[in-house]
Amino acid sequence: MRRKLVAGNWKMHGNHKANADLLAAIVAARPFGCDVAVCVPFPYLSETAVTLTGTDVRWGAQDCSAHEQGAYTGEVSIGMLAEFGCRHVIVGHSERRQYHHESDQLVADKAKAALARGVTPIVCVGETLAERDTGQTEVVVKRQLSAVIHTLGHCAGEMVVAYEPVWAIGTGRTATPEQAQAVHALLRAQLQAATAHAADMKILYGGSVKPDNAATLFAQPDIDGGLIGGASLKAADFVAICRAA
Ligand code: 13P
Repeated sequence: MRRKLVAGNWKMHGNHKANADLLAAIVAARPFGCDVAVCVPFPYLSETAVTLTGTDVRWGAQDCSAHEQGAYTGEVSIGMLAEFGCRHVIVGHSERRQYHHESDQLVADKAKAALARGVTPIVCVGETLAERDTGQTEVVVKRQLSAVIHTLGHCAGEMVVAYEPVWAIGTGRTATPEQAQAVHALLRAQLQAATAHAADMKILYGGSVKPDNAATLFAQPDIDGGLIGGASLKAADFVAICRAA
């Protein structure tokens, strides 16, 4: 039985006061029956680490460099994230792929860099609406995951995968549990062909997960929790989603 993981992706939101209130509410709502993480903007990692140390709530970042160090202005290395106690880092979010033109291979290299420093990458894959409408969902997500599987090699079983259909992100239009499960099953089968650990790997769903749809999504056999955007910024909603897992 896989333990579920609910991870909040705060994206570019937050400030000292709002973060402190949100984290305090999450800490106070424990215990949860699942693993819980918050992926916060880089400047808030320090205070998040201070607040969450000694609790079972994990923290992480939303991106990292594929490089260890060097002249890469504006980038943050995985070693730096490890120093701040990050347990997770999101890589390949569709907003990074879209706005920063991140390729499948760059995403794979970031995942590899993360695992090399003991930080578990949450690797995002997902199709756009145009891709779904033209029947390319399977080809797209398999291509995205394939690059990571090949680059990670024997470590592939250590990543977390997140299926986030781009058309469901921030739109209020959630994939139906059946639509999501169908893609999760495809991804699990692809992992099965690559690693003996596929049955133990977490595949999260992301895209307009809310308190009222979380339980049915999480009840699907291959959905092992969620990557939560907007609803992770509201304490009551995030806590409700964690309780649904
Ligand atoms: P929303 O939950 O706001 O749709 O965002 C999903 C997401 O992108 C999480 O990474």
